[in-house]
Amino acid sequence: GNPALAPFGTTIFAEMSALALEHDAINLGQGFPDTDGPREMLDAAKAAIDAGRNQYPPGPGVPELLDAVAAHQDRFYGIDLDPRREVLVTVGATEAIAATILALCGPGDEVVTFEPYYDSYAASIALAGATRRTSVLRFPDFAVDEESLRAAFSQRTRMVLLNTPHNPTGKVFTRSELELICSLAWEFDAWVVTDEVYEHLVFDGVEHIPVATLPGMRERTLTISSGGKTFSATGWKVGWVSGPAEAVAAVRAVKQFLTFVGSGPFQPAVAVALGLGDDVYDGLSKSLQDKRDLLIDGLRSAGLEVSVPAGTYFVVADAAPLGATDGLAFCRELPARAGVVAVPVSVFHDDKDAARTLVRFAFCKRDEVLQEAVRRLTAH
Ligand code: PMP
Ligand code: GLN
Repeated sequence: GNPALAPFGTTIFAEMSALALEHDAINLGQGFPDTDGPREMLDAAKAAIDAGRNQYPPGPGVPELLDAVAAHQDRFYGIDLDPRREVLVTVGATEAIAATILALCGPGDEVVTFEPYYDSYAASIALAGATRRTSVLRFPDFAVDEESLRAAFSQRTRMVLLNTPHNPTGKVFTRSELELICSLAWEFDAWVVTDEVYEHLVFDGVEHIPVATLPGMRERTLTISSGGKTFSATGWKVGWVSGPAEAVAAVRAVKQFLTFVGSGPFQPAVAVALGLGDDVYDGLSKSLQDKRDLLIDGLRSAGLEVSVPAGTYFVVADAAPLGATDGLAFCRELPARAGVVAVPVSVFHDDKDAARTLVRFAFCKRDEVLQEAVRRLTAH
């Protein structure tokens, strides 16, 4: 096979979701909600299928979704985009990430990112033949360390790959952290690619700051998001990338040969969802904040030390107080022992020691499911 992919093997999500099925365990590993998104969106998908929108959609995406993405960026952030030239629809954020890296990076180039990182980042960087350089975010506050971040940059830096709100830590990058990252991107003349799929999943009144809104950044930033998290439809795989027209065109050139197009009838449905009222967006974060608190209380009473996330639907906890010495081993035995699935944070690290006993739990589940998970964890 392709030697670039040799280090990666099976993703942790596939391994842990298989264990969940095998042991009939509660799956707080892979992040996906157990309730559906807005009714209007579901109905719009059915209507699109019934209206015969079942063949290849246009390469850049269906016009109403391109328009809806541009309107969304303007409505929430005041970012002004030309929907025909500065937006591209992809098969989930995953394809946007891969196509963007393949479009902008090649052998010899370096990509600066933070660890822990979402697993597809490392694989996509490797597929492009580029090299990742990382700066560690450390439990429990996961603050950016300026010295190690600066040390990750070099004359070869081509891109900074950022994720805010951040999976798996739940961290929402602060304005001053983003300003530091952006000033380094300027200094080293690098692109900033920012994965903002959890943009609407923020708590406690914390503000999500899109990188493209920082002074001077619109011209060197590509922003990635998708409908999966915001509208609880992770299986639909409708994502997008937006930014300067020439860069978006370069990503489109790669995307043609990855999937060409995708998710036909789901594209107009996500367009409908993006246009729904503030109540839909606010209701989601409000409900997730309550779920976060429910799970955190439970994990604490089960004896774990918890980092309180300001965003996403993940919480990272230290399982050392339960006797764990290795998070991966702990997560492999937890389904059989306690009937609960979590994922080890170390798999998202190059520096495994930075997360030896840390595990991630997803709280995008019905309250009774979270309560049962807590009951099982407390009993074991
Ligand atoms: N980026 C991050 C940080 C994610 O957590 C996910 C979802 N697991 C993705 C990208 C992929 O998004 P999609 O399902 O839209 O491909
Ligand atoms: N983004 C989700 C997570 O982090 C699912 C990832 C996946 O299944 N590839 O859990």
